[in-house]
Amino acid sequence: MPFALLNVKTEHNIEATHHGTPEEDAPPPKHPSFAELMENNRKWADSQPTKFFRRLKVQQPDFLWIGCSDSRIPTNQITGTEAGQIFVHRNVGNLVLNTDFNLLCVLQYAVNILKVKHVIVCGHYGCGGIHAALSSCDHQHILNGWLKQIKSIYFYHKEELEALENDKQREHRLTELSVIQQVKNLSYSSTIQRAWQSTNQVRPHLHGLVYSLSDGSLKELIHLAPDTVLDPIFQFHL
Ligand SMILES: [Zn+2]
Repeated sequence: MPFALLNVKTEHNIEATHHGTPEEDAPPPKHPSFAELMENNRKWADSQPTKFFRRLKVQQPDFLWIGCSDSRIPTNQITGTEAGQIFVHRNVGNLVLNTDFNLLCVLQYAVNILKVKHVIVCGHYGCGGIHAALSSCDHQHILNGWLKQIKSIYFYHKEELEALENDKQREHRLTELSVIQQVKNLSYSSTIQRAWQSTNQVRPHLHGLVYSLSDGSLKELIHLAPDTVLDPIFQFHL
């Protein structure tokens, strides 16, 4: 069973095998205390020019970013963007579920009010959510239900995934397949379909990306333009 080996690896170990031995890897950053966190904020706020805050009176981001909650992916830093340029939603495993009110509210606000031009789903290799979904561990009721969405993607692509050589390749490919599915899920939402059919509002492009924790690169896996034709079963008559 491909799940078996995955149970015994930690996320850190998976990444460490990418680079070499753990000794060769840089030590993790020192964890600040809560007091240091607040102090860091005071210093940062004091160091910003007044014009920085004047610019933030309104936001007009062109991008909605749906990413994983993982702490190692600082969205603005890896995309060279600044405050006000990306509207962000994050959850475990960067899932787009059409029953998730939180996600659907963010999507509706971003598309209809902020009028973003691009909606990005970004997954990443070494994802704890994908790793957990591949294990048979009981993560308790709510998390089990959440991870089941990823297990279903595995199930539908079982043949391709189980033909791969090892667990690590399966985990990476499942990460990619999940991102592709989440982008398709976006296109199945009435919010996106309404925007695509509109003649007087921004018609957002949908992109699926995967981020490498090993080298910092982003790779595009899927792009759905506003003229994408959906299978009739997913298409609403709006
Ligand atoms: Zn993740």
